[in-house]
Amino acid sequence: MPFSNSHNALKLRFPAEDEYPDLSAHNNYMAKVLTPELYAELRAKSTPSGFTLDDVIQTGVDNPGHPFIMTVGSVAGDEESYEVFKELFDPIIEDRHGGYKPGDEHKTDLNPSHLQVRAAGRRGGAGRAGGRSRRRSPTLGPQGGDDLDPNYVLSSRVRTGRSIRGFCLPPHCSRGERRAIEKLAVEALSSLDGDLAGKYYSLKSMTDAEQQQLIDDHFLFDKPVSPLLLASGMARDWPDARGIWHNDNKTFLVWINEEDHLRVISMQKGGNMKEVFTRFCNGLTQIETLFKSKNYEFMWNPHLGYILTCPSNLGTGLRAGVHIKLPHLGQHEKFAEVLKRLRLQKRGTGGVDTAAVGGVFDISNADRLGFSEVELVQMVVDGVKLLIEMEQRLEQGQAIDDLIPAQK
Ligand code: ADP
Ligand code: MG
Repeated sequence: MPFSNSHNALKLRFPAEDEYPDLSAHNNYMAKVLTPELYAELRAKSTPSGFTLDDVIQTGVDNPGHPFIMTVGSVAGDEESYEVFKELFDPIIEDRHGGYKPGDEHKTDLNPSHLQVRAAGRRGGAGRAGGRSRRRSPTLGPQGGDDLDPNYVLSSRVRTGRSIRGFCLPPHCSRGERRAIEKLAVEALSSLDGDLAGKYYSLKSMTDAEQQQLIDDHFLFDKPVSPLLLASGMARDWPDARGIWHNDNKTFLVWINEEDHLRVISMQKGGNMKEVFTRFCNGLTQIETLFKSKNYEFMWNPHLGYILTCPSNLGTGLRAGVHIKLPHLGQHEKFAEVLKRLRLQKRGTGGVDTAAVGGVFDISNADRLGFSEVELVQMVVDGVKLLIEMEQRLEQGQAIDDLIPAQK
């Protein structure tokens, strides 16, 4: 799919209505916000690196909807995009992130000892507990999140993205920028040691079979087949300067130059989300320090938190998730409503473009912005415990009505 919207001056020779995209069949956040008037108001603008309104919205124009999730339909091409096109992005962000307002401030908490133990098995426990207080001392007994039942939870994972200030984002970066990011990242990551010590594997250096194995084992991003990725311009020059860095036992991984400059991932088999999150926080903090020591910082501001390519990932950029067996609950008529109330999202286990097979789902937090990292992981831990309790009830042929949580 070609990507070229770089003729803005040329386009301005036509009236705005002649350039306005046909959004009549669309169902994404961008299409809900964009009007001919807003298009006319913003179309002559561009960011300092030359990203335009049409570049922002192209993915949402070419992808009217998605079979499994409500997509955002817009991307940023650089850090300034969110400011230059804020009349478009602010309402999208507010709608996508549960009413997050232009004046709101984001919070960061990367301290895993702030996870709490919640009593499992209490009626409606996950829905009612509130999740914000931190009364429990980290020194008392087991910490929250280390005990998701491995009979149901096959694997646990936490990921985020990070963008390096001063470079265009993947929809807009040049080959040179992309290669410079790869070089920088590989240099920085080579300083990690202990459990985190690892190696970089560029896509170009892999055989097709090796790449496919990493994808099948859920370690590596998919090939650029997703129309979302293609239409946004992120797949240009594929596989140039893309790759994966991981430690020896593949529990700490960094994707380079996929949808974001960096995607940092911690994962392992079973249900110890606490351990996964702890490794994630340690590794991420170390990576930030390594970049700082080379005079590079991550894109961040107090309002949007960490700045990433897709507005859905602003804030923490964090997606904490489990692959979980829910053959009964997954077919229950209330499943979607329960997830919504727990502020969770479901995907198939092959990633965002796949449907669940055999009752196994990828269940993760739906929010990224307006909650801290700890709060989001806590939501997943508490929510997953409740889902397991419901699944066990249904296994016994019992009703789950009294377990349906309140809206978080
Ligand atoms: P992301 O939000 O990280 O981009 P995707 O839905 O695109 O996630 O999936 C990327 C890959 O990560 C897929 O191969 C998927 O199977 C894998 N993955 C996601 N969550 C988990 C998990 N809890 N356990 C194992 N693999 C996972
Ligand atoms: Mg993805």
